[in-house]
Amino acid sequence: MSIYLDYNSTTPVDPRVLAAMLPYLAENFGNANSIHSSGQRARAAVDAARQAVAELLGAKAAEIVFTCGGTEADNLAIFGIVNPCDQPRKHVVTTAIEHHAVLNTAQALEKQGVDVTYVPVSREGIVDPEDLREAIRPETVLLSVMLANNEIGTIQPIEEIGRIAAEEDVYFHCDAVQAAGKMAIDVRKLGVDLLSISGHKLYAPKGVGALFVKAGTELGPMFFGGHHERDRRPGTENVPGIVGLGKAAQLAMENLDADAARLAALRDRFENALLTLPGVRVNGSVRGRAPNTSNLSFEAAGGEALVIALDLQGVMCSSGAACSSGAVEPSHVLTAIGLTPDQARSSLRFSLGRPTTEQEIDEAIRIIPPVVERLRALSPLNVGASAVR
Ligand SMILES: *Cc1c(COP(=O)(O)O)cnc(C)c1O
Repeated sequence: MSIYLDYNSTTPVDPRVLAAMLPYLAENFGNANSIHSSGQRARAAVDAARQAVAELLGAKAAEIVFTCGGTEADNLAIFGIVNPCDQPRKHVVTTAIEHHAVLNTAQALEKQGVDVTYVPVSREGIVDPEDLREAIRPETVLLSVMLANNEIGTIQPIEEIGRIAAEEDVYFHCDAVQAAGKMAIDVRKLGVDLLSISGHKLYAPKGVGALFVKAGTELGPMFFGGHHERDRRPGTENVPGIVGLGKAAQLAMENLDADAARLAALRDRFENALLTLPGVRVNGSVRGRAPNTSNLSFEAAGGEALVIALDLQGVMCSSGAACSSGAVEPSHVLTAIGLTPDQARSSLRFSLGRPTTEQEIDEAIRIIPPVVERLRALSPLNVGASAVR
């Protein structure tokens, strides 16, 4: 039996999404920019998908720009606002726990002479909106804060931050890649100007995403080419991928409350069972969290080794962020909430998804404790094994 508990890394394509996409890989292969009927069929499908994504976010269809994923959406939002050479304001405020798609974009801007402030977060993994306000200066142009964190699931007070951004007259970008489909999103209520989502975190395929760009927002292009996506993102549209994202958005909306309640109950049952083991702690806020995510530190058991040992027993999870798997660096998120490098390295992220069953959770609860115990007995980190017990 194989138990996948890594849905924050990526999700499978929902069978209903696949079924919606297939015709656009085969008979409806047209280019959405062609005038003939084949092109018009593709255009109609792209328009319908744009409408579905807009509805998921509480936006207007014309405010949705399709991209090749979450990373491109984040890059387009940040570069698109900061880079235009007629943009005189050259300071960006973000947080220490953003995804690398935001953090490394900010670092690239720094190399170009843009100032970036990385605001720290609490031990719970939540940023204080007043700290963001204090970081804003006259030359600040953009605030970028994520909605749900990909590693620990904590949810940031975006609505409050949106009010601050409006008061201080700075653009506000939100990376909502991990939040879409897990909680309701309303761009007006949140007060964001730009918001990113990604298909493959939402049961659509990899390689498609979207950026909400509030009407009237002046966004410079990142790429140059044809006049696609209202001149905001050139390149022949990925029609099957976009159709898949549209279907996934529709399904997310239909299933939102039921999915969230079911996953939160399973996640809590999983977490409570593991918390009965000695030396196990929850990383990040327990209350303000995405319903599917559990990040646990297992004192004195190496995370990478645990991931491998659990995989051999059929349980798939990740240590820190998947992007840093294979690297020795401890997770920047876990160190930002105050874990020591060793504690961060001994942490695992379990993330549940739509296909997760109660049986899988019970099986995982049975499999994990003896593996942890065995690795603790072997671990060089295990100086205090008896203290743990
Ligand atoms: C996965 C992820 C991204 C990147 O999205 P891709 O579609 O994989 O490029 C950005 N931000 C967050 C929070 C993510 O979890």
